[in-house]
Amino acid sequence: MSLPTLARATIDGLSEHFSQAPAETILEWALDKFRGRIGYSCSFGAEGMVLIDMLSRNRQPPTIFTIDTGRLPQQTHDLIQAVRQRYGLTIHVYVPQAAAVQELVSLRGPNSFYESVANRKECCHIRKVEPLERALRGLDAWITGLRRDQTPDRTRIRKIERDPGHGNIVKVMPLADWTWEDVWTYIRANDVPYNKLHDSGYPSIGCAPCTSAVAAGEDSRSGRWWWEREASKECGLHLTAEDGIGDRPRGENTALHEEDT
Ligand code: SF4
Repeated sequence: MSLPTLARATIDGLSEHFSQAPAETILEWALDKFRGRIGYSCSFGAEGMVLIDMLSRNRQPPTIFTIDTGRLPQQTHDLIQAVRQRYGLTIHVYVPQAAAVQELVSLRGPNSFYESVANRKECCHIRKVEPLERALRGLDAWITGLRRDQTPDRTRIRKIERDPGHGNIVKVMPLADWTWEDVWTYIRANDVPYNKLHDSGYPSIGCAPCTSAVAAGEDSRSGRWWWEREASKECGLHLTAEDGIGDRPRGENTALHEEDT
């Protein structure tokens, strides 16, 4: 039963029902409910590794995919390799359209994102947003590792929502109420592999040229697009109805913004 056929009231009820539920319970429910039609978008951050570990214990894990923008740090590629070996999972890798990247770097140069917010959003759209739209095509639900305390934009996310940016499919966020400490307690307790950049002061890890380490006490995403002091630290992968996109069908998410990718 896809969200287009799931009423908003049903989603509200599910969200309320699972508001206090453990992450594992929500994953079990979602995998059963949307069997064969659910994907997990993993960016291989700390939250992503918690979900990989939980999903690996399920007999019928979802399709797990990641978006390789072409600008990821070596440490993220190292972790993807480590996950394949440790868990034996298939990681489906989506890459940007070659023609679009070729045109972008030919017209604006390889590092145009430093020149303006518009240029940065254009790059994120080509390298992240469009590949995600392709990855979600045909699915009825997807899982992400978003947490409420990551950014001010995420403080009101619920564990189960509809996703107006992607055809109103169901968006499952089992870690919505987890703290950064909860994430690391799980990783240490279960000896989960993680991105080595975390040991160098990177709480949030995206593309190499757009991510820096942060000082103690700084916002966890302040190292993303650090040169944009005033702009939202989002790229367009996680938009809500409040972002003004209403109920667009799949493939019409033209907002150019950025996940905890
Ligand atoms: Fe481009 Fe930077 Fe966005 Fe990566 S994070 S897609 S390099 S602008």
